[in-house]
Amino acid sequence: HPYVSASDRYDTMTYQRSGRSGLLLPAISLGLWHNFGAADQLENARAILHRAFSLGITHFDLANNYGPPPGSAEETFAQVLSRDLRPYRDELIISTKAGYDMWAGPYGNWGSRKYLVASLDQSLRRLGTDYVDLFYHHRPDPETPLEETMGALDFIVRSGRALYVGISNYGPDQTREAARILRGLGTPCVIHQPSYSMLNRRVETGLLAALHEEGIGSVVFSPLQQGLLTDRYLRGIPADSRAASDGRFLRPEHVTDEVLQRTRQLNVLAAERGQTLAQMAIAWVLRRPEVTSALIGASRPQQVEDGVQALKNRQFGDEELARIDDILNA
Ligand code: NDP
Repeated sequence: HPYVSASDRYDTMTYQRSGRSGLLLPAISLGLWHNFGAADQLENARAILHRAFSLGITHFDLANNYGPPPGSAEETFAQVLSRDLRPYRDELIISTKAGYDMWAGPYGNWGSRKYLVASLDQSLRRLGTDYVDLFYHHRPDPETPLEETMGALDFIVRSGRALYVGISNYGPDQTREAARILRGLGTPCVIHQPSYSMLNRRVETGLLAALHEEGIGSVVFSPLQQGLLTDRYLRGIPADSRAASDGRFLRPEHVTDEVLQRTRQLNVLAAERGQTLAQMAIAWVLRRPEVTSALIGASRPQQVEDGVQALKNRQFGDEELARIDDILNA
């Protein structure tokens, strides 16, 4: 039977404008960094994508190197696209990126025009699409002139490989400079992808202000701090969790007593708000007007379902915000 998505898929999701652009993103987006590689179960990946789209999540975030092995998350997405989501292609915002190590030799990482264009062409072949909706430079390159990297993004849009471009992991000054160069080229910087969560508030010290001034939106990654800001670790480290089973980025030693002391208190506050901790953590990043979308990951469909319910209570009173600050600063 051909796949048919829920007809009520646009009834509850909120769509927010990315800066001063025409791009509307769901308040919650889904990233394929973990759980979508060749090593993962295709049927689970497929079920997560189906559930997300049925809940109005139209934006799926990829990168050249997501897997493992690198590239395989794009291939997994391509399989679900060709089997099920192809009729909905114009309802989807598919993003990918280049910037980290992808292939051997001098042209397989960082920010040269050579690397960015070749990498996106590889991504398009893996995805089986003519274009992506959004392409990012994944991290700043300290060696390549920013004019060259931004020129490559401009070329990528003009050549039809991407509809919009953005940057990820750039600092406030680099962001202003990148935005200025892109504006001069006539291709706006539409979005920034920084990390942001209750346990990682770096963007509050300059980046969000820069985004506001430049009219750039943001999709913030790891709002759940890879799972630490959920009920996952409150009673130990479950065997099927990222900390126990992945070992690449989140490891058991990150689940410290100090983190648990905070997340247990945050969990109490979330319960008072009638939310799970994950829902409160998502609502909390979305309280900032500079944040267009919270970019979550998921290892099962139920987590997406749970996360989307965050939108039922996005309001924070001053007292609640102060209590959260106290817990985080203690
Ligand atoms: P999150 O902080 O949302 O962590 C996701 C993990 O949290 C899940 O894998 C799951 O852990 C757990 N989780 C999610 N929802 C729930 C829930 N409702 N209840 C309990 N546990 C839950 O984000 P990620 O770190 O996965 O990053 C999200 C996306 O951001 C990536 O896929 C990628 O697209 C992007 N990203 C971009 C980067 C960049 O440099 N631009 C860097 C990193 C990420 P478990 O697996 O243990 O079940």
